[in-house]
Formats: sequence, C-alpha cells, structure tokens
Amino acid sequence: VIKISNLKKSFDDNIVLKDINLNVSKSEVVVIMGPSGSGKSTLLRCITFLEEPDDGVVRLGEIELEAGLQHNKQRKTAVRELRQNTGFVFQQFNLFPHKTALENVMEGPIIIKKMDRHKAKEKAKELLTKVGLADRMEHYPAQLSGGQQQRVAIARALSMEPMVMLYDEPTSALDPELVREVLLVMKELAKEGMTMVVVTHEKEFAKDVADRVIFMDDGLIVEEGSSAKMFNNPEQERTRQFLHDVS
Ligand code: ATP
Ligand code: MG
Repeated sequence: VIKISNLKKSFDDNIVLKDINLNVSKSEVVVIMGPSGSGKSTLLRCITFLEEPDDGVVRLGEIELEAGLQHNKQRKTAVRELRQNTGFVFQQFNLFPHKTALENVMEGPIIIKKMDRHKAKEKAKELLTKVGLADRMEHYPAQLSGGQQQRVAIARALSMEPMVMLYDEPTSALDPELVREVLLVMKELAKEGMTMVVVTHEKEFAKDVADRVIFMDDGLIVEEGSSAKMFNNPEQERTRQFLHDVS
C-alpha cells in the first residue's frame, strides 16, 4: 500500500536521507529503529510531504507524488489526498487544548470530510471507546494523563479512516507507567489489520507486533528483517550494536 522510491532529502549540506526505498504491504507493521539524527522523523515527514523531499516518489494506494514537481493545483490535490489517507501520531500529542477529547476526534471528519455533526460524534464516541476512553470523552487535554492524551491523538488519527498510520516515537514523551496502555492500543489496531509504520525504541513492542524491523543509520536503511533476525542474528555490526544497546 506504500511504495517509497529513491527518496532523498538534505538540509543545506546535511544529507539526511540518502536514497531510501521502502515498500509496506497492506496490514503490515513496520518498526523503524535507529540512533538519534539518523533520519527517522524526516523519513516519516517526507512520506507525507510535511517535508518536501529533494528527490524520489511516494505512492500510497492510487496516490502518487513525485518530489520536485511544480506546485500546481493537481499536485496540491495529491498532497491533500496523501495526508488525508495518512494518520500521523507524534511524540507530542498536539491536541487542541480548548476542545474536549470528543471534539478533538470529531474535528477532522466534520471539517475535512464534511461529515454531519451527529454522525461524526457517534463515530468519535466509538473510537474513544475503542482506545479505552469511554469515560473521558468530555475531558479537556489538560485534564488527561499523557497516555490518555496520546490515545485521543490515536483516535483522532483513526477518525479520518487512513490507509496507513505513521507513529513517530509515540511513547517517548510518556512516563514509564503510561507507555503500556498506548502500546496496547497500537497492538490491538495492528491485530485488526491496520497498516502501520512505527518509529520507536520499544524493543518488546517490536518483538511482539512488528512484521518487519528496519534499522536506519546515517540516512540509510542499513538492514531490515523479522524482529527475530534483527535482534538475535543481525548481519551488520552496526545493527547488532545498536539493537543490543536499546533496552
Ligand atoms: P531522533 O531519534 O533524535 O528523533 P531522527 O532519526 O528522527 O532522530 P531526524 O529528526 O530525522 O532524526 O533528523 C535527522 C537530521 O536532520 C538531523 O541531523 C537533524 O538535525 C536534521 N534536520 C531535521 N529536520 C531539520 C530541519 N527542519 N532543518 C534542518 N535540519 C533538520
Ligand atoms: Mg525523530
């Protein structure tokens, strides 16, 4: 469902992505690991054109976007479609502080999908229930724990019925005791067949949920494979060292 070809990105003379090629199948869970600064966040941002790649092509379903093309109306439409079909969950939850959990989740379908309010509300309730927040729907973000806020953010991303979910270190801003509840929700979604790309350092999650683990270093995919291979029997010394060190 995702096909990334020859993706490149530099910031001035800092080459951050050096020819990334990555395909993700429907319902596949891909975990990306790698040291700080290796380009993981930039890769996710380039996939959604939040950051414009210098070179390469991103395909999501039928949508195809090539880097470096003229910014015309057609391209704008493609970028919008790409983003609407991608659920993005960040380290910082980025909820609207003046909206309740329910309103946060209703917003996208109403504004972007022009869904009627009643229907959006029913759907938002369903999603919040699914992430375990049936009793927190009327709370504002400030009244929720980090783990609860992140689960609202996940429900909000799901409300757009994306083809794929992208997670950028979704639990690294959380207190340790709140990590589990977020990972459990993600695992549940994976079981239901959601396609996901997850940047995380959570080794147990990778072992448990990932169909494929990718190790990135210095703007390159150094190695990829099953979690069993990547953690127990990697081919590259760099992979072994890094994955051995993450707890
Ligand atoms: P971390 O694990 O710390 O989140 P990362 O693998 O996500 O790291 P990136 O955030 O993708 O790494 O950053 C890769 C490199 O790109 C870094 O050297 C960073 O300084 C640089 N970089 C990222 N975004 C920008 C930007 N907007 N402008 C300039 N340089 C940037
Ligand atoms: Mg990052």
